[in-house]
Amino acid sequence: MRPLPLPDQDTAFFWEGTAQRKLLILRCEACGSYVHYPKPACPLCGAASLTPTEVSGRGHVHTFTVTHRAVPGFEQPFVVAMIELDEQPGLRLISNVIGVEPDAVSIGMRVEVTFQPAADDVWLPVFRPEAGR
Ligand code: ZN
Repeated sequence: MRPLPLPDQDTAFFWEGTAQRKLLILRCEACGSYVHYPKPACPLCGAASLTPTEVSGRGHVHTFTVTHRAVPGFEQPFVVAMIELDEQPGLRLISNVIGVEPDAVSIGMRVEVTFQPAADDVWLPVFRPEAGR
């Protein structure tokens, strides 16, 4: 079985969001910056008022790798990618790209979030080619 996330007090909001099929990213109330990974304060302005905010889930592949090695819980080959979200340059998260042959994934490719059930009430955000492209 695939390893599951272990939410802590800093990341619980993220996994509560994915359980509702929403991608939530912390946003600074003072300067408007999105912050990921979750931090207690905004790295740009230092404000501690960060609020989980739903984002579009759209973005592009910043970089990626194709894994052919056997990894428990994953069907080979699979794509591990750094996705840059449209909301802000440099706002990136690590995920998988699904729904496309690994050979067809490219840097800059448009993607959108979707959610995969992993266990009871645990949903993982993964990315697929953007619809209509
Ligand atoms: Zn800020």
